[in-house]
Amino acid sequence: MSKGRHSRDGARVSSYRKEGVEHVLMTPSANVITIMLIQEQELFSSIKDTISMEDKNDDLAKLSLLTEDILLEHLKHRYDKNLIYTYLGDILVAVNPFHETNLYTTQIRDFYRYSTDIQKPPHVYALVDLVYRNVCHGIYKQQCCVISGESGSGKTESTKLFLKQLMYLCGGSSQLEQQILQATPLLESFGNAQTVMNNNSSRFGKYIALKFINGKVIGAQISDYLLEKSRVVIQSPGERNFHIFYYLFDYLPLETKQILCLRTKHDYRYLLTNSSLDVQNATATNSLDEVINAMGLLNFTDKVRILKNNDLSNNGREQHSMFRILSGILTIGNLEFSIDDEGFTQQNFDEEKAKKNLSIIANMFGVNSDLIMECLTTMTTLTRNERVIRKFSLQSSQDARDALSKHLYARLFSWLIGKINETLNNPYSSQSYHHVVEIGLLDIYGFEHFELNSFEQLCINLANEQIQFFFNQHIFRMEMTEYEHEGIIAERLAFTDNQTLLELFMAKPLGILSLLDDESRLPKATDQTFVEKLNYHFGLNKHECYSINRNNKYSFTIHHYAGKVSYCALGFLEKNRDTLSDSVVDMFKNSRDDLIRLLFHGNPSDESIDSNKGLQHRTAAEKDARNRLTVGAQYRNSLQILMDRMCASHPVFMRCLKPNQQKQAYLFDDSFVRAQLRYCGMLETTRIRKEGYSVRLSFEEFIQKYGLLSKARPSNVPSITCRYILEETHLTEWQLGKTKLFLKYYHPEYLEKLMNKY
Ligand code: ATP
Ligand code: MG
Repeated sequence: MSKGRHSRDGARVSSYRKEGVEHVLMTPSANVITIMLIQEQELFSSIKDTISMEDKNDDLAKLSLLTEDILLEHLKHRYDKNLIYTYLGDILVAVNPFHETNLYTTQIRDFYRYSTDIQKPPHVYALVDLVYRNVCHGIYKQQCCVISGESGSGKTESTKLFLKQLMYLCGGSSQLEQQILQATPLLESFGNAQTVMNNNSSRFGKYIALKFINGKVIGAQISDYLLEKSRVVIQSPGERNFHIFYYLFDYLPLETKQILCLRTKHDYRYLLTNSSLDVQNATATNSLDEVINAMGLLNFTDKVRILKNNDLSNNGREQHSMFRILSGILTIGNLEFSIDDEGFTQQNFDEEKAKKNLSIIANMFGVNSDLIMECLTTMTTLTRNERVIRKFSLQSSQDARDALSKHLYARLFSWLIGKINETLNNPYSSQSYHHVVEIGLLDIYGFEHFELNSFEQLCINLANEQIQFFFNQHIFRMEMTEYEHEGIIAERLAFTDNQTLLELFMAKPLGILSLLDDESRLPKATDQTFVEKLNYHFGLNKHECYSINRNNKYSFTIHHYAGKVSYCALGFLEKNRDTLSDSVVDMFKNSRDDLIRLLFHGNPSDESIDSNKGLQHRTAAEKDARNRLTVGAQYRNSLQILMDRMCASHPVFMRCLKPNQQKQAYLFDDSFVRAQLRYCGMLETTRIRKEGYSVRLSFEEFIQKYGLLSKARPSNVPSITCRYILEETHLTEWQLGKTKLFLKYYHPEYLEKLMNKY
């Protein structure tokens, strides 16, 4: 049913449903129309060279013939002309230009701001405009924008452009809008890093839910998904640690570095693994200044003055504590152990360097240095009121050391997100929920396939499988719903369903994650026994998406939608258990530093941080409850929550494509793009259109176009007239729906040929 409203500009707005999609019509008053058109014309003439409207093939779904080659050819042709955006029906495709473009100027932003009826060329801003219009008119209670593509394809950049434009459309000047935008550089500095595939690769997934009332943003909440914390202690060749660590050295003044006991970046093992400092073109996307400003704007207490005379020792100062924790983590990495005659790690050894490092760590974390050493070299267990102290081997000590660093960083990151959410959600909590509508923006880590793939890649690729499943379901469902609506008989449309693969991961009790949990609980199990179990249950063709790797007892291969990936299971059990010894937790719970205590859920009565402490503790306590689950189980739950949320939303899709593997501008590698088109389902979407009825015309449209082809006298019932025409053309495979005619993609060409004979 069409419903009338008025927009901010005084335009009359109505909406209607068509092809399962809600459409919004804006009928502005005469003077508003004139102003809009003049503005639009002016804008258009200034930008028409940039966003060419000449190319009629900006919606590839409109092409009557759609093959892989044609798709590729058109994308390439457009890319060469700097037209990086293309529609594939209602999906926006973006090819990463890998260079600065003039596609995001104020004029272009304004051009996509005015919502008249003229068809505008594809652009991420057009998507924002569509979604925002739906918000203003309350068309959907919940929408989500799903941005997918492999690592380095441009998801995060697109998310930033989307968010910035969305805030611009809202007004762009309120404090909350600014805070929402500022969360990005802060999160990127702690959660992104340079990888082989992308210089600014997201190492965590995020879903930003923005809440609106009457077109104004009133709050936001960020959900994060599994940070790749192993990066803190080790990076693959050619990769780097999280950006924030390098910012400390690149931007902090000498005095501040001294207070933080920082040396040079070449002095830290965690920054030197695999010569990651020598990585070419290491790019700092933000500066420390930006990060610190963002922290200030987002209410992190006590700004770190990066100029001089800092006193970084006071408690209750969040920013200072964060920097101290970062410095402490780097120093932990430099702790070396020596062994005694029996091969156990020595607790008290006389090495000047080690002592110095220990005292720095103790200072940064507000704990006792002997206690740190004790925690890293021994394990104390209580049995029948007896304290049993077990000494660590060298390997166990090194593992305990690295586990400590990873936990500290991950907890710091979680706290950071919680803190941002507190600020962004505050205004929201005081408002009535009744009229709130939501836009969710999903930006996860893209599909990864390295030479060595570990537990992290397994988790990242599983998330991508989930998103692909959501995409398939949606595209497929929409098509079928329309057929049902129109009473069309259609066979189940073929598409590569990745449901079996998802079940391979998720099934209980016989799925990869469940089996991993089982093994993680067995004291005698090892990474090798885990692989043996997988091989037993899924190998030898028992599961179509699994194969055994005979030449390596730790390796197994999964046939992902985006290709086969071999995983090395070394470290899987430990990463899944992700435990931290009680003695370490106790030590930090009693730290002198407020933030450290908070990260380890210390005693709230000792707290003196600020008025937000209640909420912070609740978050920490909730996390504690969750922490008892394995990493795999937690991840499975968080993905399920995400899926439920997305399924309850009206989705819009954006597919990012990477033009080449070298991260280079003006280079379109045909076979590389072809592979992406293939696996990300673009061709399947195409096939759905080909096998289904991609051409749909209303009866009136058809009669108007092809009426000449029939000699029979038209009937008063339009559908009967259509039937007359079609029968005379000897076409087959068409179908008459309730309101329109469904034709195959090749029918119009045939009809045109017949018309030409007249
Ligand atoms: P990951 O999955 O690794 O996080 P991603 O898909 O988020 O990858 P981005 O970080 O968004 O990839 O993009 C990688 C790089 O590509 C950016 O740092 C930027 O240099 C370039 N890039 C992406 N999109 C654009 C764009 N629209 N205009 C110009 N450059 C872009
Ligand atoms: Mg990213």
